[in-house]
Amino acid sequence: MTDTTAAPLLEVSDLRVEFGDPRRGEVAAVLNGVGYSVRAGETLAVLGESGSGKSVTAQTVMGILDTPPGRITGGSVRFRGEELLGADPERRRLLRGESMAMIFQDALSALNPVYTVGAQIAEQFRFRRGMSKKDAMARATELLDLVRIPNAAQRVKEYPHQFSGGMRQRAMIAMSLALDPELLIADEPTTALDVTVQAEIMELLDELCRERTMGMILITHDLGVVAEVADRIAVMYAGRIVEETDAATLYAHPAHPYTRGLMASVPRLDGGGGQLDPIPGLPPSLSAIPPGCPFHPRCAHAEDRCRTEVPALRALVDPASAEGGHRAACHFAERFLPADAAPEEVLSR
Ligand code: SF4
Repeated sequence: MTDTTAAPLLEVSDLRVEFGDPRRGEVAAVLNGVGYSVRAGETLAVLGESGSGKSVTAQTVMGILDTPPGRITGGSVRFRGEELLGADPERRRLLRGESMAMIFQDALSALNPVYTVGAQIAEQFRFRRGMSKKDAMARATELLDLVRIPNAAQRVKEYPHQFSGGMRQRAMIAMSLALDPELLIADEPTTALDVTVQAEIMELLDELCRERTMGMILITHDLGVVAEVADRIAVMYAGRIVEETDAATLYAHPAHPYTRGLMASVPRLDGGGGQLDPIPGLPPSLSAIPPGCPFHPRCAHAEDRCRTEVPALRALVDPASAEGGHRAACHFAERFLPADAAPEEVLSR
């Protein structure tokens, strides 16, 4: 259970990132004031379509955003209260692995094909902990065992191509845990895997995070993946958070039409929900985000105000939402909440 009174492990506020060349007038506003926080032991799922800014936010948090072409134009990323934007590169490098780690969608390209899996995990113990080769390989074997790779003592000597897709992802998880980070960012960790293996990997990540009281940011476009593991969910659209609340509330009564559209386009396992209803149109080009609410060209509820006025991300009075409240960036979010809900406070514009 997450301690909701504890200070956040990670706090991202008003983060702004652009790509392109302003001198030529070619600028894509990729992040437009993103803010979220994660506590120790908590899993925050960041949900959205491709190009919504989920991965760019994570890369900025990790300090691995390519600059150029990216440009951080504003905001703050604090880890345990320490500002990371503008911090010394050596400090950022030290924090990666030791305090925060990231696993990627494509484990095959993240692993080096010419070294054994064990050598790649052991490298961190050798260079960051000064261990002997033998001790480092023993720790690598323990980690493969921890992520439930059968016959870890043999597997540690094998190369990535000798592992199945699911085992490679387990090996990546082992590698990310090597230095006991407090925060794990998992960027679409199961997208390349079949459904059964996806469920096993998510279960493993969930267990490891809870056992180690580790915070996790789970980046995904797949609502099904987050249902079992997320404590809170932040939905992103066009480089903004458009809704954020605890997982149960989001599933019970999403308050933003985009989130509602995502829900309506996913089949339900219980067969309920009726006909699938995909969101019309496509996400906007980030170099030409529509004025007003960026979702208005695709929104069935859009009114005149939506075409000119950017909706603020507001805290809603939602009696059903548990800890952490319910926030949405829609002028008319209350229409989708229980009858006694009302706007409370403007958080950002
Ligand atoms: Fe739709 Fe308007 Fe709400 Fe945007 S502000 S999501 S266009 S109703």
